Parts: sequence; structure tokens; C-alpha cells
Amino acid sequence: MDELTNDIFRSAELVVSGDKLVTPQGVRSGHLLIAAGRVLGVCDTDLALPSAERINAGDAYVLPGLIDSHVHFRTPGLTHKEDWEHGSRAAVAGGVTTVLDMPNTVPPTLTEQAVREKAALVAGRSLVDYGFHIGVDPEHPGLLASLDPAIARSAKIFMAGHHTAPTVLREPGQLEAAFAAAAEGGVQLVLHAEDDSLFALLDGWWGEPGSYAEYEARRPRSGGIAAVAKVIELVRRHGTRAHILHLSSREEADLVCAAQAAGLPVSFEVTGHHLSFTDEDTRRLGARTRLSPAIRSRGDQSRLWEAVEAGQPATVGSDHAPHTVEEKTRGVQQSPPGLPGVQELAVAVWTGMRERLPEEHPDRSAERLARLLTSGPAELFGLTGKGRIEAGADADLAFLAPDDTWMLSAGDVRSKCGWSAYEGWTMTGRVVRTVRAGRVVWDAGSESFGEPDGRWLTPADKQGGH
Ligand SMILES: [Zn+2]
Repeated sequence: MDELTNDIFRSAELVVSGDKLVTPQGVRSGHLLIAAGRVLGVCDTDLALPSAERINAGDAYVLPGLIDSHVHFRTPGLTHKEDWEHGSRAAVAGGVTTVLDMPNTVPPTLTEQAVREKAALVAGRSLVDYGFHIGVDPEHPGLLASLDPAIARSAKIFMAGHHTAPTVLREPGQLEAAFAAAAEGGVQLVLHAEDDSLFALLDGWWGEPGSYAEYEARRPRSGGIAAVAKVIELVRRHGTRAHILHLSSREEADLVCAAQAAGLPVSFEVTGHHLSFTDEDTRRLGARTRLSPAIRSRGDQSRLWEAVEAGQPATVGSDHAPHTVEEKTRGVQQSPPGLPGVQELAVAVWTGMRERLPEEHPDRSAERLARLLTSGPAELFGLTGKGRIEAGADADLAFLAPDDTWMLSAGDVRSKCGWSAYEGWTMTGRVVRTVRAGRVVWDAGSESFGEPDGRWLTPADKQGGH
């Protein structure tokens, strides 16, 4: 090591030492040196001055701060369900240090001005860094052609609607125009891909559902399959980059993988919920696990886990979509789909991985978790400085104690909604500490949080540094 490098390392303000640092080169022991919110480097010898702050991670995995590219933090307009103070606390308690927030607020975030206004509301309230998916206005899909990348990198299209998703692109012409404009503007689309017209047809034929089980039957896999096929055809015609959210069935997974293999720029997300629950749970939990798209069969769940094992999804998201208990118990017609999940995401996926792959070395599982929850979303959404523990990266870290087993109860829930579909679950793994920009934002031992000074991740920020 030359003298200059030595000097840089001696400027470290914080040193994280551990046996299991999850780096792009794999899991290793060592010392992670941090200054001014960034990683200086990882080394075998501790080169920091004695004045540096120290954290000993012991045998906890030190992962890059997790990125949840699919949350609904409900600001503005729906803050009785969730707000950034609570939502970002739930995030850091789950190891998440960056979120991308969805546009279906009240009013919806359909213009650059609306995104700026939302960012102003979030400033000073968030423990995590954040970006926004802009919503596609059904009346003005062409706006995507000139979307300012400093405002949003990606745009959300709802092909199906529900209680909290009123702006739906139902007409073929609207979708066609949105895909063409997104391709022209270099915008990454993210899609709720279900065919609303099929659901309307079924509702008309069968009449109002009388039970939760019937409700799910009215939102069948055929709606998702039809919409995914449509998306693939639009991607083929326009070359648009399209990321299909909360993919729920075996057939959809096969279609997207086949399209990728054929060279099309299409990718998919699976959610923690679709990996954790099946329709059998839904019968027991009623509206709690009502989702859109619906939670499907054990066979579909197995296909989604196969995808995770094969590294097929580009991201695993929470689709954190809280509603109050009162809203969730309003009855079959009125109960809105969606459940909280940003806090449970990493431990639920880790628990599932350890159950399904007990023979796999835990280091390989940790590397897989890091790909799906950090480098995957960082690459897809162009989040510079995120998703990797390496020199120059933002010093965002999630500490996962891999063998801690514990039962999740309502008292653990940090979301404003105050409940979790995972209550009573025995979890494997616990997020014991979370660091963002070189500072501790969650410490499980003292149950304390850091400062709500998360940044809006815009390209302009990247050039200017912190
Ligand atoms: Zn969502």
C-alpha cells in the first residue's frame, strides 16, 4: 500500500469490523473504513487512527444498505395510513436505506411539479434516501418523452385499478403512446400488469363476491398473463425498458424469462408477500393478505422461489402498501388490497431462503440476498453509489444476524398502520443495526433511530456529492 492510500485510510471516521462483509467479490472478513458518508475501502489490517468510531459486527452479515424499489409511503393525501416518519422507521428497522416511492397518492404524482411538491413534503422527515416513480397520466402519456431525469428515472403504469389506484391506462392507444414516449425519453417503465377488462367481465358475469376466497377467484392469473403478454408485445414493438411489478404466477414468470432470453429489455419483481404466503394463508387471514395481484397457489409460490434461486428477478420489493385495521375489516367489497412489508422484507426472504435451501452455505444465501435487494435494484434504476460495498460507494449498511430466531408480533411493527400479516411468524435472522451515510439510523439493542436527513436521489445530487 502506498503512502497516499495509507493517508486516505487514516482519515476514516468510522470503522466497521466483521467476519462477514458482503462485498461484490463475495463474503470476506475485514475492516470497512468510512468517512464523510462514503466507503473509503475494505482492508485486512485496521489502518484507521484510534480516534475513529468503531462498530464490531461480529458474525452478523454486513450487507449493502437494502433498496426497496416499491413502497407506498402515502404522502400526500393518505397519511392516515402511513407517513414518512413511520414508513422510513419501518424501512431502517428492516435494513432498508433507500426506497423508491409510488405515485398513487392523493393527488397522484403525475407531473414533474407534483414530484417536486412531494419531495418538499418528504424533506427532513425520512431516515432513508429516496426517489420517486412518476405516475403516467392516462390523458397525457406522451409526457414521458421529455421527462427530466433529475425528477424521476422511472414511470409507473397501472393497467388495472383498485381502491387506491385510480389512474389506469385502459385504452390500447394510451398504452401504445406511453410505451413509445418512454422509449423516446429513455424512461424505465414499471408496471402493474393485470388486464382490468377481464376482471370487469368476470365481475359482471358472477356478480358481487360474497367472500374473500371468491374475491381472489375474480382476480385470476389469466388477468396477469394477458397483461404480461401485452407488455411483451409492446416492448418488442417499441424497445421500451419495462419492469413488471409483483409478478404472481408461474406462467408470467416463464413468459418474462423467455422474453429476456429473446433479448427484450423486460424484467420482473417478486414481492416478499408472494414469496411468503399462498392462497391457503389468504383463506385464513382474509383481507389481511388481500393483494393486487392476488396471492396465488403453492405451485406459483414454488416457481417464484425457483426464480429467486436462479437469480431471475431483477428486484425483490415489498410493495409496502399499508391500510388501517379499520379499512382492512370493512368487508369483502370495501377492503382495499395491500399490506405493509418494508420492515419484514429482508427477514421474510432470508427465513424463506434458509428453509428452502438448508444445505446452501449461508454465505451464498447472503450474496443472493444482496443481489436481489441491493445491486439488482441499484443497476435497474441507475442508483449510483448504492448497492455495493466498495471504495467510493455511499456508506449504507444493513447488519443481519443470520441465526437469530424470534417471533414477530404487532409490538415490533413500526409502520403507522400498526399491524403485520407476519404476526406470529417465527423469523430466522434479525436486522440488528442499519447505517446510512456512515451514521447509525437503527440500533435494535437500544431500539433507537438516527436523524431523518435522508436525501432525494437525483442525478444533480450525484455530481455535487453529499
Ligand atoms: Zn404497489
